[in-house]
Amino acid sequence: MVPTGIVHDPVFFEHRTEPGHPETAKRLSRIYASLEDRLDDPGYAAIAPRPARREELSWAHSAAYVATIAASAQREWTRFTADTHASARSFEAARQAAGGLMAAIDRVVAGQARNAMVLARPPGHHAERNRAMGYCLFNGVALGACFARRSLGLQRVLILDWDVHHGNGTQHIFDDDPTVLFFSLHQSPHFPGTGAYTETGWGPGAGYTVNIPLSRGYGDAEYTLLLATLLPRLARSFEPELILVSAGFDTHRKDPLGGMKMSSDGFAALTRIVMDTAAQCCLGRLVLFMEGGYHPPALARSVHAVLDELGGKTLSDPAAVGSSADSRLTDPVFQRCAHVQAPHWPGLGSL
Ligand code: ZN
Repeated sequence: MVPTGIVHDPVFFEHRTEPGHPETAKRLSRIYASLEDRLDDPGYAAIAPRPARREELSWAHSAAYVATIAASAQREWTRFTADTHASARSFEAARQAAGGLMAAIDRVVAGQARNAMVLARPPGHHAERNRAMGYCLFNGVALGACFARRSLGLQRVLILDWDVHHGNGTQHIFDDDPTVLFFSLHQSPHFPGTGAYTETGWGPGAGYTVNIPLSRGYGDAEYTLLLATLLPRLARSFEPELILVSAGFDTHRKDPLGGMKMSSDGFAALTRIVMDTAAQCCLGRLVLFMEGGYHPPALARSVHAVLDELGGKTLSDPAAVGSSADSRLTDPVFQRCAHVQAPHWPGLGSL
């Protein structure tokens, strides 16, 4: 049996944040507490991270920015924004997170892992080419897509971002690039303020950004119906060779930073949709990278629900979960999405 890969490492505890900061090492320790048992199961295998090289980091970031983050390792504490900091080991943790995703992608594309999940910190999707923001230093998922394209020779990568916050950094890094389709569902209005329907990419990348901004209050049924309707249609047209997920868990109903109503079972259903889509379009090649999620017990339950699904321990039924969706929440999304996206994606024209 080909196992589900899991990237985990103590280095990810070494990125420190200020007392009271939501992005704390406790997030990871709750998840790691039951990881040893899981890794005793032959259905799972640990994948060791590696540091992304300077040259690799510069695929998605400027060389000057990479040097700035690297220089933070010389200091006890560096403040990039009011809520985004580096401790002396943050550079190492952030490049191991990105390199861990590259190692996971390598295994999945080689057929040595059926799929994989990277359980690291700091998160990445807010990091811009030249700027740290939103707790993020290096944009892991963007670097992973660059690795798949440049080092493995894949032609097209689909990035799904289901974090409650819009992945502004990922969108901007690829907004003129037709080889990476960025598809995001996120709460709006909310931090960072980007991610309108009308942000669809530009130049050769026009149409290769698909944003679904959502008001507060969407839960398992609504998210499941939206994803089950939109993702397979996009994937059939785009034909990705790999799907990456910026897997944020701050849409959980207990999360202090989000206003959504997801549960751990809902994340399993979303995972099943992405697994089914990947099976149909790209030999099941799927790697998830953990982004947000700031209620440690809810985060740990949700991550393990996703790992159960990835490893085939559970088999969610997205059709059943989505059947109770509140159409007052989902119908306006389908209408707006069809209107904006029909010129780019005919499959979304009649939702
Ligand atoms: Zn988030």
